[in-house]
Amino acid sequence: MEEIRALKGTKDIFGEDMRKWLDIEEIIRNLCDDFGFNQIRTPIFEFTKLFKRGVGETTDIVNKEMYSFIDKGENDITLKPEGTAPVVRAYLEHAMHAETQPTKLYYISPTFRYEKPQAGRQRQFHQFGIEMFGSDSPTADAEVIAVASTLLKRLGIRKVELHINSLGGPECRKKYNETLKAFLHTKEEHLCELCRERMDKNPLRVLDCKNEKCQQELEGAPTVLDTLGEECRAHFEKLQELLTIMDIPFIVDSSIVRGLDYYTKTVFEFISNDIGAQGTVCGGGRYDKLVEEIGGKPTPAVGFGAGIERLLLVRDAENENVLKEASRDIFIGYRGEAAMMQAFKLVNQLRSVSISAESDHLQRSIKAQMKYANKINAKFSAIIGESELEEKSVQVKNMGTGEAVTVPFEQLTSVMKNILGKEL
Ligand code: ATP
Ligand code: MG
Repeated sequence: MEEIRALKGTKDIFGEDMRKWLDIEEIIRNLCDDFGFNQIRTPIFEFTKLFKRGVGETTDIVNKEMYSFIDKGENDITLKPEGTAPVVRAYLEHAMHAETQPTKLYYISPTFRYEKPQAGRQRQFHQFGIEMFGSDSPTADAEVIAVASTLLKRLGIRKVELHINSLGGPECRKKYNETLKAFLHTKEEHLCELCRERMDKNPLRVLDCKNEKCQQELEGAPTVLDTLGEECRAHFEKLQELLTIMDIPFIVDSSIVRGLDYYTKTVFEFISNDIGAQGTVCGGGRYDKLVEEIGGKPTPAVGFGAGIERLLLVRDAENENVLKEASRDIFIGYRGEAAMMQAFKLVNQLRSVSISAESDHLQRSIKAQMKYANKINAKFSAIIGESELEEKSVQVKNMGTGEAVTVPFEQLTSVMKNILGKEL
């Protein structure tokens, strides 16, 4: 029969990897608690028009990368290619703007993009993202950046640089677009087809072109920073002061323009040199126009999206064995049918008080059962045979020290609770 495999660019997560995922997710949950962000889970799919409007019709994501389909009800639907537009939709749909502001939300979500699979690039990947609505203060930008920076610290990731830039507000942007367009026209014949197509509609996108030849031509392009107006300049300067006082090192980098249309003012990326070409682990910025774009009242907002797969890659590249080995509290082995019944009774009692216990499901010999106990890193073990059944007690052995104590069956849970409690 033909073998059925997972789709290109998708991955099964299990075993040792799964433990790393659970660990990073727990770190993220604690981090967001500390920073006062609440979790939100939006559906895996949305109406396609949400992303067309939110992400922008001239972006790579909307042009080339969306998983869109028509469902049986003839709805035009897209698997989420990013997390911000759905959160904005939910923010409006549930009138969160009417509650005390700011609204601070985070998500951990599968994300889908039809891209060429390669190291650090999948078709289904996962993003951790945060969004803060309702504040136009640079303190909000700084706090959002601090969440990412603290996460990297907690993951033991050191070799990542923070690059920041400002794209200005609509006014500065309009001025800049004209300057940039004029520059791009002088390079027109050397740019790729897509760049030529985009240079009038959305010149900023041209700066984000992945084509190396284009990137060469773009050296010396005018930067937004040159055309920032008074207010945007002050905002960007205050952000830099805040980052400095918060001990978050940064590099001002005018080449950071981001791949989505919705950004205004601050944009930033955390970039690693440890994992090859796809080195951006986290990207974000301010998007003061997006809420309006999606149908709400003007609402300032700032956030980021971080690729969990890439965070794990960098974490692994910089650290060895961050996780303790998986273990079980106790293994209870047995010899014979009657002892098996007793073993499973005890295992069940132990589990019901949150002691992790295992027994044998494969009719192994006693020797093989003990090997299995070692394999699962059982801290304690006990074997029930005929004499144990008669005495109604069992020897509990510490697998590390070899010490053993005899414990009556009916006291096993309370004794184990004690022993483990003392150990913890
Ligand atoms: P890139 O420049 O790598 O294409 P991007 O600008 O498209 O990134 P964003 O839209 O900002 O990425 O998404 C935020 C983060 O999600 C990225 O910084 C990256 O860590 C991760 N990411 C984006 N696309 C993928 C993908 N196809 N596979 C794995 N992770 C991804
Ligand atoms: Mg991309």
